[in-house]
Parts: sequence; structure tokens; C-alpha cells
Amino acid sequence: MIALSWRAPPRGGEVRYDLACTGDGEEGQVRITGVEALLLRQPGAVDETISDGSQDALVVRVHTDEGLVGLGEVDSQPHVAKAIIDAPASHVMATGLGAIVTGLDPTDPDEAFRRMFRGSLYYGRRGAAIHAISGVEIALWDIAGQAAGKPVHALLGGRRREALRAYASTLMPDTPDEARRTSAELRAASYRGVKLGWGPLGRDAELDVALVAAAREGLGDDVELMVDVGLGWSDADDAIRRVRAMLPSRPYWIEEPFWPDEYEMYRALAAAVDVPLAAGEQETTAWDFERLIDRGGVTVVQPDVTRAGGLRETLRVAELARDRGRRTVTHSWSTGIIKAASLHVLAVLEEADWFEYCVQTTELNQRLVRERFCVVDGMVEVPTAPGLGVTLDEDVVRECLVA
Ligand SMILES: [Mg+2]
Repeated sequence: MIALSWRAPPRGGEVRYDLACTGDGEEGQVRITGVEALLLRQPGAVDETISDGSQDALVVRVHTDEGLVGLGEVDSQPHVAKAIIDAPASHVMATGLGAIVTGLDPTDPDEAFRRMFRGSLYYGRRGAAIHAISGVEIALWDIAGQAAGKPVHALLGGRRREALRAYASTLMPDTPDEARRTSAELRAASYRGVKLGWGPLGRDAELDVALVAAAREGLGDDVELMVDVGLGWSDADDAIRRVRAMLPSRPYWIEEPFWPDEYEMYRALAAAVDVPLAAGEQETTAWDFERLIDRGGVTVVQPDVTRAGGLRETLRVAELARDRGRRTVTHSWSTGIIKAASLHVLAVLEEADWFEYCVQTTELNQRLVRERFCVVDGMVEVPTAPGLGVTLDEDVVRECLVA
């Protein structure tokens, strides 16, 4: 029984939820027996000074009394998200997520979401609590799919496409020469789009423009170039000048130019340049995205399934965005669990083209799951096995397990 008690508002309308719970389900149903939060970290040296979240991970494993095990992930501060899952009950609106969902029917992720949202109200509503809820919700969809013998996309409304166009996503190198070389390598690997982000972007206007120009040289004319400023700019007029100087390099979109709360700067830049603005990886729940779209004027909306609230919430965000004439391109950095979960969502959207394909060489990004998500002619296939369709490589889990 999966009830969606949310509707896309009419244009300009407000987001409304019904968070009422619908009871304890039927006798004899499969039940959740516990939630494990596995904190994993790249073996060897980790560089905490760069923006690479693929160096660690929080994998969620939900267990049931019938032996089905669901996999999810939270791309957040993993120690914080683990504490939110592991915390015992304090009172009815301040309980750890594991304690909230234990005993529930794992094949009803929507009901579990409502319970987790209510049960975390004192410390939750947004931020790390919603991140952690996302990971548990994804694991429940994995179980629901396995129980039904169907891929998750079939439970979410059925897929409209078998593969997505992958854009390679990695950090902006430190120099134009390296940016040119990295771009040329990714072009040779058949990607039809390449995103370079964070790194040195934002420090210096001339360097920003030179890095983007070098990336364009490496990509040639027929590969799209996404530029992720990584919150690097802090003045709308200065940002307008930098984007205009980048126009000869044909940026496909400009991502997160400003701090997430600077909605007026987003709006000013969006009004001044024709290049689409992308943002949303820091936002949680459709309420946040409503503000990002309506106040910020962002045109490419980027919910992360492991942060925004899970698969259902990401579908809500996409519906909201579409209703307002915006595109949804999910944010997805690291591991095969995130890749699979994102592909299931992108498969069912009415409109979707790009899939963010993180190309970091960390163990967790490349080898955490056995499935490889090969990019062939720039396309990556949507998983079709029951559930999410991914299995952990237990050797990598042992190698990387911290707690
Ligand atoms: Mg980004």
C-alpha cells in the first residue's frame, strides 16, 4: 500500500503535505527488525580540504524478519547522519530513525517517511535529519522492489527511458593546462557532457575565465560544458561580468555560483544572462525547492536523492519544477548506490535527459557495489534487477569500514 498524499500545486501555489500516518498495517506483514548505518572511509590518506565527498560514505542497511535486506545511502556528514539513525528514543518527536522504523512494514516507504519526519521533528525538518531519512527511505524502496520482484522504477510509476545521457562530473583542476587535459580525457571516454567544479573556481575572475576556456579547448565543439562554481562568488554584478566573459566557451549551465541562501543574487544573475543557472544539492524537501525556484529563478533544479528526502521527495521536487517550467537534473556524487537510486528516479520523470556521473577514482565511488554502470557511447543504463539492483562488495566494505 503506497499512498502519495501530495499534489503538485497549481502554478504559483504553495506546497502542501499531509503528514498524517495511516496506521500499523496488517497482521502477518514483513517487518523491519533493525537499521545499520555503516560508516566507510577511503583507505589511506584522505584530503579533507577538498570538496570530494566520495572519500567517505554512510551506507544504510535495513533488515527485515523475512531476510530481505535493503540498501540506501546518505551523502552528508557521515558521523552526524549515523548518530541520527542510531539515536535511541528521547520522546515521540525526538527519536532516532532506526528506532522509529523498527517494526514498520518495509514495503511502505511513504508511511515510513511520514513517521520519520514526525519522529525527528525537534531536531529535524531539514538538514542532516532529512539527509538521514533519505538514506533509510531509499533502503525501503530497495526492499519493496525485492519483495515485489520489480525494479524500483516500476514501483515509482514505470520507466519512460532505458538509459540516460551521462555527463562526467569531477573537480576543476588547479591550472588551465590540467583543465584542458582532463577535459580531453573525458571527451575521449565518450561523455557528451563534462562538469568541472569547485577547486580554484571563485578565487580570481581571470583564472575562472581561463579555466573554463581551457576546458572548452579540451572538449572541442560537440561536448557540453557544465561549470560548477561551488559557491565561489559573492557579488551579483561581479558574477554577471564573469559569466559574460565565459560566453565564448559556451557554458551549458552555471552551477551554485553563490551561497545557497543568496536567492536575490541568484535572481539577479538569472535575469542578466542567458546561461541557465543550476542549484539544489544543498536543499531538502519540496518546501526548499519551491523557494529556490520562485525566489532564486534557478532553471536547472538539482535535488540529491540521498539528501533531499529520498526517492519520493525527489519526484515531488521534479513535479514542482516541471509545473514551473524548470528542468530536473539530479545531483549524484559517488557510489553505485547513489547512481542506482538516481537512475531509478530519472527513469520515471516525464522529462529527463542528463545523469550526473561522478568519475572520482576513490574506492567507494568505483568499487563499493559490484555493478559497474558502464558508460557506452555516452549513455548509462537504468538498472532492471529487483529493488535498486545493486549489491555491496563485502571486500570493499571490510576494507573501508570505520564504524
Ligand atoms: Mg555541484
